[in-house]
Amino acid sequence: MKALCIVLHDVAPPTWAAARAMRAAVRAVCPHAPVTLLVVPNYHERGTEAPEAYFDWLRACVAQGDEIALHGYTHLDPQPRGWKRRLYTAGEGEFAALDRAEATRRIASGRLWCARHGLAVRGFVAPAWLLGRESWEALSDFEFDYTTTLTRFVELRGGRSVPAPGIVYSARSRARRVLSCGWNALLARVAHAAPLVRVGLHPVDTCHPQVLHHAQALVRRLARHRECLTKRHVAARLRGRAA
Ligand SMILES: [Zn+2]
Repeated sequence: MKALCIVLHDVAPPTWAAARAMRAAVRAVCPHAPVTLLVVPNYHERGTEAPEAYFDWLRACVAQGDEIALHGYTHLDPQPRGWKRRLYTAGEGEFAALDRAEATRRIASGRLWCARHGLAVRGFVAPAWLLGRESWEALSDFEFDYTTTLTRFVELRGGRSVPAPGIVYSARSRARRVLSCGWNALLARVAHAAPLVRVGLHPVDTCHPQVLHHAQALVRRLARHRECLTKRHVAARLRGRAA
């Protein structure tokens, strides 16, 4: 397998305009590449209501080949203690330290929200890829095909995982933006032999033309030598190989 997953994080009503712009930016450079959209049902606790046009857009993306995956419930860590959870995730590692009951409750609420709006979800990606031990246990109670960690893609039904370097831009400050462009170009070269490379895009990246153009060029370059797949399709490939 030599695959590329283009992933759009943090899709929610408050980020919708920027998410739509990012989806269009990917289409501009890779017209046929499917994107995995990571939706957050109650993003930053700003409510689960959304205009019907938002759901229409999500369903239209799916009809064109994209995939919807569940990306936590609020995206906020309820108790961001410790340097890693505060600094690295800016307090957004929702599933870093939940107990099993709370993780179960949030995943179930997220699945229900998706089902209510006609969105089929086969994957779960924890905010900041931080999945604590009890959240892992909670995840096993649900029928998901896959999850991803910081470094790996995990097929959940057969239990197979592969290394999957993740390339993600940091738009939080000017210095981070400059550094992440250089770092990501290097990472893309180092990841040459990996069976799967993930490019994680955020709606906020569209606010910074330098980041956006860098990401577009990177995606276009990677897509030349790799097959663009949704994460659901990667999971199916891995299952097929294990069978
Ligand atoms: Zn996120």
